[in-house]
Amino acid sequence: MTEDNATGERGLKYGRVLLKLSGEALAGAHKTGIDPETVAAVCEEIGSVLDMGVEMALVIGGGNIFRGLSGSAKGMERSSADYMGMLATVLNALAVQDMLEKLGYPTRVLSAINMKEVCEPFIRRRALHHLEKGRVVICAGGTGNPYFTTDTTAALRGMELKCDAIIKATKVDGIYDKDPATNADAVKFDHISYEDTLRRRLGVMDATAFALVRDNHVPIIVCRMFGGDIKRAILGEPVGTIVREE
Ligand code: UDP
Repeated sequence: MTEDNATGERGLKYGRVLLKLSGEALAGAHKTGIDPETVAAVCEEIGSVLDMGVEMALVIGGGNIFRGLSGSAKGMERSSADYMGMLATVLNALAVQDMLEKLGYPTRVLSAINMKEVCEPFIRRRALHHLEKGRVVICAGGTGNPYFTTDTTAALRGMELKCDAIIKATKVDGIYDKDPATNADAVKFDHISYEDTLRRRLGVMDATAFALVRDNHVPIIVCRMFGGDIKRAILGEPVGTIVREE
């Protein structure tokens, strides 16, 4: 997607985006597992974004089902625990695929771990082809490697699929100088540089993911999952926090 196409007829600032959701976004009030009503709400919100004509790759975490680190803290071998985490992301990807398609949006799940009965393998050129055809590319299975996270997956896929921005949709409406849940005087940034984010240890993404996006100058937008924030971000309206080169 070139800048001209992105900003042309459709009025979008970002014509192709990588949307990262944590697994918890699918869990609803239960905080674990997959809650169908929550999945429906998330997919309706994603659908309203797709209706603008944006090309979207989606990375969904697995923390609502299993995180490798918690497994290894309880004595599991770390790599085995991480593979379980990666498999959890496939469950989430299939749940979101099912709901998006029920809502009428074409999708493909492409997994970094081959599962040919269930989904396609992640092949970059194939993913690009799907995006060009207007299909939502759901990137499952993480990077396919233990010791990484789905933040790193989002950074990696965002770059190789030539996304104009990585949008991290969360419960919080942006990046604050301290945790807004526990500090009433926390101040939100409208924009912040990669360097300041690191210096202030704001923990937007894990260090590996952050280093990747910083070195490749991909903007990261942190905004709320619901309420139309993702749409506004893609239109270039001031919403959430944008991390970019100042
Ligand atoms: N994971 C991994 N390699 C990857 C991506 C994910 O090993 O490239 C594993 C890791 O154990 C991680 C789990 O999958 O804890 C689920 O991903 P993550 O914790 O990033 O999910 P989120 O917190 O976004 O729900």
